[in-house]
Amino acid sequence: MPSTPSPESTTAAMLASTNPANGDFIGTVPVTPAEWIPRIVEEAREAATGWRALSFEERGALLIQGGEMLMGKAEALGELLSREMGKTRASGRGEVKSSGKSIQGKVARVSAALAPHTTTKHGVATTVVHDPVGVCGVIAPWNYPMNMIQWMVVPALMAGNAVVLKPSEETPLIAQAFVDTLNEFLPPGILRIVHGRDGQGRALVNSTVDLIAFTGSRAVGVHIMAAAATSMKRLILELGGKDPLLVLKGADVQAAADFAVSNSFDNTGQMCVSTERVLVHQSLADEFENKVVAAAKQHRAGPWDEDGVTMGPMIHGTQRAHVLSQLIDAVSQGARLLLGTTTPRKFFVDPTVITGVTDEMDIAKEETFGPVVSISRFTDTQKAIRSANAGPYGLGAVVFGATQAAEEAAAQLNAGMIGINRSIFGVGDVPWVGAKQSGFGYHGSPDGWRQFSQTRVISRVE
Ligand code: NAD
Repeated sequence: MPSTPSPESTTAAMLASTNPANGDFIGTVPVTPAEWIPRIVEEAREAATGWRALSFEERGALLIQGGEMLMGKAEALGELLSREMGKTRASGRGEVKSSGKSIQGKVARVSAALAPHTTTKHGVATTVVHDPVGVCGVIAPWNYPMNMIQWMVVPALMAGNAVVLKPSEETPLIAQAFVDTLNEFLPPGILRIVHGRDGQGRALVNSTVDLIAFTGSRAVGVHIMAAAATSMKRLILELGGKDPLLVLKGADVQAAADFAVSNSFDNTGQMCVSTERVLVHQSLADEFENKVVAAAKQHRAGPWDEDGVTMGPMIHGTQRAHVLSQLIDAVSQGARLLLGTTTPRKFFVDPTVITGVTDEMDIAKEETFGPVVSISRFTDTQKAIRSANAGPYGLGAVVFGATQAAEEAAAQLNAGMIGINRSIFGVGDVPWVGAKQSGFGYHGSPDGWRQFSQTRVISRVE
């Protein structure tokens, strides 16, 4: 089959990438015409024949070289990532480094998870193998524009699949740089990239890909699930969240306040497991709010390369307007701003603390995705737990409190990842998993990596 021209070789429509901190033009990538995508998928399938014949060690060795090169380019790629997405210099560089390091560190563990395993009993040997599924369509968001991609692409490739990646239209340049770096080592054609907006995402979902790994919003996840149903494509969906933080009587108020601020402002609040809602016991609330405001005042939103900046801009004007409209709506219903403003500022939302939020307000229900500590007070712990569990999301949840009370509350929270007197980030190869409508399948961990394979069980007489 003659090869479809790569996006680089066409003069078709261009997708411009701009700096979200000032609107400056950074560069362009060619948009992949949606009608090319089915063909690109089939070319990837053909290219994967040789790839799947390689051993895990051989595939891993090539990916490790790619990971090493990413780490070597961390300074330059980190700067590109920060300019394109807006995060601070240290965060941009850190994301590139951690992506490279994660690839290097995980290939052996992914191989072990995918290796055949035999059980022998009563004269029968049964082997479980993990075959490639074929071609994986990977659709990624902009908020961790390299890490989210490597999370999905690396296990898909390690399992022997080809990958067609559709990165976010907000961060095409860093995605292209990631793919170009890995492709210096991978055989031609097994890692392809298509650029564009939702039309290209839809075309990928509607193509003959065998599996779709999607990280993004719940709304788009719903579309993808419906579109994938007609051909029963395998799905991994990592979606949005509305993570609550419960601060119970007996909590270390300073630690809870510090966590509330850092986890609401990290990545400018544009993080799926950001603290989106704080429910604090009335008896601690004044002290907690004072400490939150004091800690929040240490933060400053600004361009990635300015000294003293701890947070970047909102990714685009629509997101900025969404955050402000939630704040304006909450204030109009009686909530009070303790820090920040509802007056629009170009490109940025300043560190914001709001209190008096009630369950009915949009800011308590829908993902904010901005640098806002949003506080409600409670007196009845069971009622607070019901509030924390309300709504469709169930990604993460955190409780601060005396050990036993915190454990008891945590056991009642309906979320995939729970932190007790700390963040939800666990240690070891644990799954990244959402409950309810925050996820469907999961990333990381042996079980997560196996999702990129077709399990086959073969029994024979010994
Ligand atoms: P998004 O859903 O708007 O877009 C994600 C990707 O889907 C983009 O590449 C986009 O072009 C593509 N797309 C849009 N419409 C499509 C369609 N109909 N069919 C196929 N593809 C389509 O999300 P975003 O704004 O890029 O990212 C922010 C969201 O991602 C937040 O909700 C955040 O919570 C979530 N997120 C979740 C996790 C997690 O691990 N659970 C991690 C990061 C981000």
